[in-house]
Amino acid sequence: MIKQDENTLKNIVGHAKEYGFVFPSSDIYDGLAAAYDYGQQGVLLKNNIKEYWWKSMVQLHENIVGIDAAIFMHPTTWKASGHVDAFNDPLIDNKDSKKRYRADNLIEDHLAKIEAKIDKEITKAADRFGESFDEKQYRETNPRVKGYQEKIDQINEKMKISIETGQLEGLREIIEGEGIACPLSGSKNWTEVRQFNLMFSTEMGSLAEDANKIYLRPETAQGIFVNYLNVQKTGRMKLPFGIAQIGKAFRNEIIARQFIFRMREFEQMEMQFFVKPGEEMEWYEYWKNFRLKWHANLGIESDNYRFHDHLNLAHYANAACDIEFNFPMGFKELEGIHSRTDFDLGAHEKHSGKKLQYFDNQENRSYTPYVVETSIGLDRMFLAILSASYQVEVLEDGSERTVLRIPKPLAPYKVAILPLTAKDGLPEKGRELLNELRFEMDCTYEEKDSIGKRYRRQDAIGTPFSVTIDHQTLEDNTVTIRDRDSMEQVRISVAEVKAHIQAQTSISTLLKKL
Ligand code: ATP
Repeated sequence: MIKQDENTLKNIVGHAKEYGFVFPSSDIYDGLAAAYDYGQQGVLLKNNIKEYWWKSMVQLHENIVGIDAAIFMHPTTWKASGHVDAFNDPLIDNKDSKKRYRADNLIEDHLAKIEAKIDKEITKAADRFGESFDEKQYRETNPRVKGYQEKIDQINEKMKISIETGQLEGLREIIEGEGIACPLSGSKNWTEVRQFNLMFSTEMGSLAEDANKIYLRPETAQGIFVNYLNVQKTGRMKLPFGIAQIGKAFRNEIIARQFIFRMREFEQMEMQFFVKPGEEMEWYEYWKNFRLKWHANLGIESDNYRFHDHLNLAHYANAACDIEFNFPMGFKELEGIHSRTDFDLGAHEKHSGKKLQYFDNQENRSYTPYVVETSIGLDRMFLAILSASYQVEVLEDGSERTVLRIPKPLAPYKVAILPLTAKDGLPEKGRELLNELRFEMDCTYEEKDSIGKRYRRQDAIGTPFSVTIDHQTLEDNTVTIRDRDSMEQVRISVAEVKAHIQAQTSISTLLKKL
């Protein structure tokens, strides 16, 4: 498992800025809250993540096709999807610190503290009882643990009812009753809890009198649902089939303090899989497994991922879970897998008056397909990769190197070409190799500074291979190729360089392992 502490996120944010991965948006104006720009390295890493996702979903699945829908959609879309009426977060302000929180998050953090007390009791008991310790029995019989668990269940139940019925006083009562304090000021001086709709709106049309209120899409999924029939008919798709999409989404998040984990403008990679009603659980299991495999395939230690099954299901879902990742802030949602029944197509059918059904030849009847969706935030995936790959190593000679061990096929540059000196024909030889490799992969070329410094810079941006051109190259057409992770250098002929790098860095090597 990756070792994380509270400084890790700070260090990653600093590193990401220093090396051109992520900048605050409009940095010269001191940034804009929860908006970020991807820099010269960041955009390459982001594009590689997209390519891995897109190819694994669309290219490798015969029955999945992609679309690219507009961000602006007919306003009724959001009425039908439930976002106009129910895409709300309960917010609460602390009157002393003037900080704003999501009331449900404050309560969840409080529950996590009670959960931690249970874990402590269990660790203590496990030490005491040794081999014979039965955790299940201990949870069921130890009065203190039972008490904590009952409290968690009661609070969860009350929170669920308050959110479902929109009776926000319930949340306020929990916060008061449990004596939850503002993490910043320690004060318990809270305002009422209010609903806050997360959709950004704007006006379409140039004249005020005929302008229409429209929304920036808060998820890409609805662009897929409204195109279900277009794609099914024109692609002559047979159930089960999927539609995939990568695109921007916008949410006016109440709090957005965790770098690119929670942004107001972000990117989603979603796939809606349309199935025959009754077969959704089978497909839900399939997609749960496939998606976890997709992550595991990157070679990041597997105990950094876990499933979190939703116990409080949305009214239209019949199963849902998250894949959580061990971010520097702890385990948090990276991706969601949801079985959404016929809720979305059914709602659009009602609001549009158009039939959104499937004619099943075998059964000779029409029905509304069910949907299983997989939805991952591209920016969260980017942060997961950065946090898993950022390492500060102490070397044998006592010096330090900062290295990004980005899974090689996702690295921004695959190779750095480094002539040992900027004279004697070495740059020309280097550029000759560069001109051959750049048709196949992203390369970088550097001739300034000592070779040691140049290696460090490549380590810091995660370049898997550095090829050094030296005087021997001119004689026998061989180069040294250095591996980022082991720092080992081997001498190979120039003719072998491309295949050597591609064997470890091409996206297809990853895809073949799926
Ligand atoms: P959370 O509970 O963290 O707010 P969510 O359950 O609202 O997330 P979904 O609506 O299921 O998220 O969206 C699917 C995916 O989109 C999430 O798993 C996450 O990776 C990503 N995502 C959602 N909101 C944001 C955001 N504000 N910034 C970045 N990524 C986001």
